[in-house]
Amino acid sequence: MHTEIERIAADTPGTSYELVVHRYGGGDPDAPAAYLQAGLHGNERPGVAALHYLMPMLATAEAEGRLVGAVTVVPQANPIAAGQHVLADHLGRFSLSTRVNFNRDYPMPDADGAVPLDAAEAPVFAERRLKSRLLELSDGHRIVLDLHCDDEALQYLYVADELWPALSDLSVCLRADAVIRWHATPDAAFEEAVFARMLQQAGPELGQAGYCVSTVELRGQGDVSPYLARQDADGLYRFLVLRGVIEDDVEPLEELAASHRALPIDHVDVLHAPAGGTLLFHVRPGDLVRSGELLAEILVRPGELGGAVALRAPQDGLVLSRRMRRFIRIGDDVLKLFGDNRSAHAKTGALDN
Ligand SMILES: [Zn+2]
Repeated sequence: MHTEIERIAADTPGTSYELVVHRYGGGDPDAPAAYLQAGLHGNERPGVAALHYLMPMLATAEAEGRLVGAVTVVPQANPIAAGQHVLADHLGRFSLSTRVNFNRDYPMPDADGAVPLDAAEAPVFAERRLKSRLLELSDGHRIVLDLHCDDEALQYLYVADELWPALSDLSVCLRADAVIRWHATPDAAFEEAVFARMLQQAGPELGQAGYCVSTVELRGQGDVSPYLARQDADGLYRFLVLRGVIEDDVEPLEELAASHRALPIDHVDVLHAPAGGTLLFHVRPGDLVRSGELLAEILVRPGELGGAVALRAPQDGLVLSRRMRRFIRIGDDVLKLFGDNRSAHAKTGALDN
């Protein structure tokens, strides 16, 4: 294993960021290579913890000559977001500098297929240069996993339509409850930029050719524990073995659970707060609900008759995630319902906000 500390200059003199990149050498240059990163949203730590346990397993495989394909690991992919503490709170999702979501606005290929990457010295904000560098680092890897998490959530994956069901092995290995299948979108998330590049390299049959990219939602922000991190590391390791990156004995792949839900992204109903106030949930991630069922109440005028506003299920479905904070504004996202049917408010895009 070889570790490099890359320097990303900040936007003003005298300040810079460190990006730590670990490279594990594979024995066969033709074997699939894998790239894993975590912490792109700086306040999402389950992936960081999982990679903490996966990395020694990769080192052992490398030392024993069982690492067939090369593996690159960036366990803390966003030092800019990591540094955004404000008044003792941490804001890791949006850039304080530009207000852009750290998982949006990645350079996409132009009509000729060229990707307009910003070089280290390009006269653009540091976050743009970081995004270009992460894309560059992931290039040359047939397997690219971007480890995120939701607020309070089930384990689930985002997968491009073209890569499903080829990626059902990832869902099984990570014990995911659901897969959100997306199609062409205007968001330019990291996953989409990588997918666009892979599509150019391998064409529409890229899934059959072993190409793989996914935004992996490792449950919720509070789900950071040695137990879960080891479980996720074991799942990632098993996936890499099954994909031919590592040689080892692992359990053969079982079928997806009968309860596993893999549906298009337009089945996701993102429910917004009809009023601001104190949030009381009546359901939790994993609950199956019926249309009209009470999901949450918002206490607008506590203790008064009619002082609570109800939020009800717009259709039958699975509660995928819910908001972590219990004091909300009108219009805030409250809950994601993975509906049995297409949402009446479906939007295009690979990811929600
Ligand atoms: Zn995220």
